[in-house]
Amino acid sequence: MPSHHSEDEDKPCRACSDFKTWAKMQSKNSLSAPNKPSTSKPTDCPLDKDELGRSTWGFLHSMASYFPDKPTRKQSEQMAKFFNIFAQFYPCEPCALDFQEDIRKHPPQTDSRDHLAKWLCDRHNTVNIKLNKPIFDCSKVHERWRDGWLDGSCD
Ligand code: FAD
Repeated sequence: MPSHHSEDEDKPCRACSDFKTWAKMQSKNSLSAPNKPSTSKPTDCPLDKDELGRSTWGFLHSMASYFPDKPTRKQSEQMAKFFNIFAQFYPCEPCALDFQEDIRKHPPQTDSRDHLAKWLCDRHNTVNIKLNKPIFDCSKVHERWRDGWLDGSCD
């Protein structure tokens, strides 16, 4: 993926890069702390693209798996709005632009929990395909994000 810079600063965008790439770009841009190791970091640093992605998917899938089974019309509308607004502000800009395009083609399915969870699973699989990651079996989305695996390994 090409490197991206924050719009408002002449600095590489952390949330658009994996940490190693970001650290490399950062050391090219910065003359300070030349002896600082560039491949390890403390745990309380800003999120890189992959950390942000993992945390965000965790939140989004959990939200979908806990969405009401039979939402009110207002809840359905609000959830659809949430995803449209989320797509505007996701902090990795190239990720956000592709996600905006994807949800324009496949608008949020918010008329039930199962439809929302399946819709989101499909959106995540679209990103997985783009990144050459394995496809997730969407029939198991509630096991992964709400109930725990049927074999009891999460209990
Ligand atoms: P993740 O893909 O983060 O998945 C976390 C866990 O979710 C997995 O371990 C698995 O148990 C489960 N899971 C996997 N697939 C599914 C599914 N379909 N449904 C339900 N659960 C599933 N990165 C880029 O490099 N380029 C992009 O354009 C990009 N776009 C993104 C758009 C969005 C909206 C988000 C939230 C993230 C995006 N990312 C992008 C980040 C990317 O999707 C991953 O989060 C990141 O690469 C870390 O991947 P991971 O292998 O740790 O697992």
